[in-house]
Order: sequence, then C-alpha cells, then structure tokens
Amino acid sequence: MNVVSNIHPTSALRESDAKHHLHPFSDHKALNAEGSRVIVKGEGCWIWDSDGNRILDGMAGLWCSQIGHGRKEIADVVHAQMCELEYYNTFFKTTHPPVVALAQKLSELAPAHLNHVFFTNSGSEANDTVLRMARTYWALQGKPEKSVIISRHNAYHGSTLAGAALGGMGGMHQQAGTVPGIHHIAQPYWYGEGGDMDEDAFGLWAARELEMAIDALGEDKVAAFIAEPIQGAGGVIIPPATYWPEISRICRERDILLVADEVICGFGRLGTWFGSDHFGITPDLMPIAKGLSSGYLPIGGVMVADRVADVIINKAGEFYHGFTYSGHPACCAAALENLRIMEEEKLVERVRDDIGPYLQAKWKELIGHPLVGDARMVGLIGALELSPGGRGATFDPVGSVGTLCRDHSFANGLVMRAVRDSMIIAPPLVLSHEEADELVRITEKTLDDTLADLKKQGRV
Ligand SMILES: *Cc1c(COP(=O)(O)O)cnc(C)c1O
Repeated sequence: MNVVSNIHPTSALRESDAKHHLHPFSDHKALNAEGSRVIVKGEGCWIWDSDGNRILDGMAGLWCSQIGHGRKEIADVVHAQMCELEYYNTFFKTTHPPVVALAQKLSELAPAHLNHVFFTNSGSEANDTVLRMARTYWALQGKPEKSVIISRHNAYHGSTLAGAALGGMGGMHQQAGTVPGIHHIAQPYWYGEGGDMDEDAFGLWAARELEMAIDALGEDKVAAFIAEPIQGAGGVIIPPATYWPEISRICRERDILLVADEVICGFGRLGTWFGSDHFGITPDLMPIAKGLSSGYLPIGGVMVADRVADVIINKAGEFYHGFTYSGHPACCAAALENLRIMEEEKLVERVRDDIGPYLQAKWKELIGHPLVGDARMVGLIGALELSPGGRGATFDPVGSVGTLCRDHSFANGLVMRAVRDSMIIAPPLVLSHEEADELVRITEKTLDDTLADLKKQGRV
C-alpha cells in the first residue's frame, strides 16, 4: 500500500508545503513565516502532529467529524464499494445502488416533508444549488422576477462564487466580486449587537428585519430567505428563542422559500438529526454536507421539500444543473456507513441526553472566568466570548485576543477556533465524559495563560 505518511522530517514537509501548496483562508506570508502544523494521524477525538503531540480535536476537523477519526468500518465499506463500482455518474438516465440507498435514508431521517435529495460534493456546491433551484422554482411557475435571495450579515454559506455571495462576510465579497440579486439583513447576534434590548425583544426585531426587507424589495421579487439554524463560522451565534418562530411566520405569510443551511447543524450537532428539528423550522430547502459523511469522503447535497420537488419534477423541462461526482458511489457508501454508525451508537440521543448536557453545564461555568463575557452551547457546539469587561466591552483591536487564546489552546493540547474574540468548539459527537473534562480543563488553563499575557501587556 502506498499511503503518504510521515517519512519526512517536519521541517522538510513545511518547506515543501510553503513552496507548492496554497491553503484555504490563509495569509500565506504569515503562514509560511511560521510554518504549517503537520497533522499525521487521527483516532477518535484526538489528532497527532508530526512532532508527536497528541491534541484533543475540539473542532471535529472542521465541524464534521461526528463519529470521530480513524474508524475502520468506513474504510472497509469504501474499499468494498470501490472494488465493486468505484465511480459512475448519475446523469443521462442512470443511477446506482449506493446513491439510491442514501437518498432514501436521508428522506427517512429528514423532517417528514423533505423526501428528495440533490447531491453535491460540498456545502458550497449545495448552496450554489440552492440559489439555482430557488430561482428555477419560481421561474417554472411563471415568476422569473421572484429571484432575490435574502441572507444575513456574518452568515457563512461557503466559498464558491454563489456560496460567498449568499454568505455575509464582507471580506469575501470585496475579493473577486459577488453575485447580483442577494440582499443581506441583520444577524440575530444579541450578545454583540443587541444593545439595550432584552434577548427576546431583540430576536423579534432581527426577524422583522426580514419582513421589512421583503416590503422594501417587494414580495413578488423575493425568492427565498437562507440562514443557518445556528451560525457556525460567524461565531456560534445562537438566536434568541423568539427568532425562528417569527422567521417561519414571515416566510409562510409572504410566500418566500425558507432555506435552512444545515451544513453544520445537521447530523446530530444540536442533539437532533437536524437543526430544523431543534428549532421547529419547516424548511423548503436544506443544504447538507460535513457531518453527512463525518468528513471521511467529500459529499453534500440539498434536501428538497415536496412542494419544491413537485415543481422541479412535474413542471420542468430540464434543470440544467449537476456535478460529475453528484452521488459518487464511494462517497455515498461512506455516508451510509457513517449514518449507520450514528444510529447504532445512538449518537444523536447521546448528544441530547448525555454528553451534550454534561459538557454544557461545565462550559457555562466558565462564565466565572474574568476573561469570559458569555459562555453558550447547544448540543455540542459552543462559544466563549472573551471580553475585558462583560457584554458590550471589546478588545482593541478586535480579534487580537482570540488569536492569542487559540495559540495557547493549541500549545496546551486542544484545538479551538477563534472567531473575532470568541473561542469556538464543536467536538466529535463520540466525546467521552473524561474527554469533556479534559476539554474544559485545558480551556481553563488556556484562559489563565491568555489572561496572564494580557496582564503582562497591561491590557486588562
Ligand atoms: C462549511 C459550510 C459551508 C460550506 O461547505 P464546504 O463543504 O466547505 O463547501 C456552507 N454552509 C455552512 C453553514 C458551513 O458551515
């Protein structure tokens, strides 16, 4: 077997990496000056770097490793599938057993009114599919001008052109342009932007921004509203309890498609199969990826509600859309095995009833640390807002303390991610109680180390 493994010294890998590899979302000058961290092995909730350090993977890879790393069951199933049918397409009146089985399985797991799947290779492609499908849905019904998609500032919907345009990251829009016909409204970020309003009032206010945008644009011009049930990359922003019911009411009354981007919230992350189940959302389109295969192979898709599928199936002509690898047999096999393991080990129930509440209780106690302005978590996705003095007080410059804290966290043996000055975690759903204790212990030490630095610098 020819597995590319760690036969080279770390310095040689770093040098070659800097010479030939362009990384996603990286400032290469800064990265190459420091050198990439080389990860060589994964097992369960742990990863190892090329210097032999064992690190707790508090981010489940990139929000995706639900069943943990290094599961041989998936490797075996993919191997068998590749020996049988490594690849065939699903264009031109063809299909194959793994894609049929996965589409049926997803229809069973998803909310009852979602019974079709369009497969993609990633979450970004899923959101490109959303944009094209939502516009096509209205055009097929004689309303081609009902085409604007409303999204939110600080949303993340991927990095293809449509994904970036649907997202609300200003930096991404400024680089290389955006897509016309997308409108952004406020995010339901009470801690950061709620001002004097109480949380419930702010949730209603943020939801009604959607209603105001529909009024301003004209109901006959708006195709859909897209949002993550909980914003992930934007900083694990958990909306106030009033938000989703009001959004749902508005979409229903105004005949706007509701798109729940489940790329992070799907597959047990919130202690339900989908974030929509947790918040009681009834989406018309539901992009999925990440936890669908626990990252073992790249696969995503869009779950489609019956009312949309009926139009796409019965009114079209041809929906001119698809990818060479839509429903790739090996990726479908990996996803099916991942879902089988999740069911066998009852991981969704485990997050809801056991490890979720266990970690949440400990995580929320971190509010007692002098650096922590907010500690929030649903299921196994959470954030700590670092602050020099509680809600409303921010560090200058914003983001500098988050990066410092993240570096301490890595050095202490835990992967956390920094978004501005929030620390984010989303560990594998197989996290044990002992690993949860370890996660919190390292986080406490990391906060102490960060505070000590800030004191030395005279910043707190
Ligand atoms: C990661 C992510 C995407 C993009 O998925 P890729 O597989 O990276 O293309 C889209 N939406 C959300 C909510 C995400 O977190």
